[in-house]
Amino acid sequence: MMTHPLPGGQPGVCTVCGSCEFSYHDVLWQGLIDEWELSAEEAAYIDVQQGFTCTSCGANLRAMTLAKGICGSQGWPGKLKDWLSTESAHRMQLLEINDAFTLGRHWRGLPGYRFVQYPEVDMRWLPFQDSTFDLVVHSDALEHVEQPVVALKECHRVLKPGGTLAFTVPVIIGRLNRTRQGLPASYHGRPGDHLEDHRVETEFGADVWTTVLEAGFSNCKLLTLVYPASIAVVAEKE
Ligand SMILES: [Zn+2]
Repeated sequence: MMTHPLPGGQPGVCTVCGSCEFSYHDVLWQGLIDEWELSAEEAAYIDVQQGFTCTSCGANLRAMTLAKGICGSQGWPGKLKDWLSTESAHRMQLLEINDAFTLGRHWRGLPGYRFVQYPEVDMRWLPFQDSTFDLVVHSDALEHVEQPVVALKECHRVLKPGGTLAFTVPVIIGRLNRTRQGLPASYHGRPGDHLEDHRVETEFGADVWTTVLEAGFSNCKLLTLVYPASIAVVAEKE
């Protein structure tokens, strides 16, 4: 069972699978904390976002928060696994971009499921026609894309009217968005890996919603499971 004291409490059940058993491990390392210029409190809640994990399905807090956002957008009050077995989920055209943590394993079998990932597919140039998808999902990918507004415009373009974009990025609530252009390179993933697709282009802050509205969405909802450790972004294409 999880023993780490969570800021803002902890979710009682996993929004993906319904389990009540959680574990916790630290994820950040000092080099990344320094590059990101995180305070101890900020580092603690990002660690919880990434390292607080359902021991049953493997979802971490950000995946659970994304699952809550997806279910909410579909008017489903229960957990993601149950929604995925509904008829409406089976009718859905769903695009997952760049591996939405552990969520992919639950919806991979849906008839309308498509998956693309970098570097074969860049989020700024999606190889799909306009108005193809009911749901577009990505998780902790947008911070690695140059021109995040262009990437979200592409998500908007491939969504059908009434379709939903749901995603996460790490959000530091006490500051505003900052580009890392002109700053030393910083990488997510694991210490020392320095994979190009883990290079951070944007550090998102309290104005994360502006990126969504600049991309052409007329609305943007932020939701949380454990504030401020986890924030998911949901926007509907009109
Ligand atoms: Zn779970």
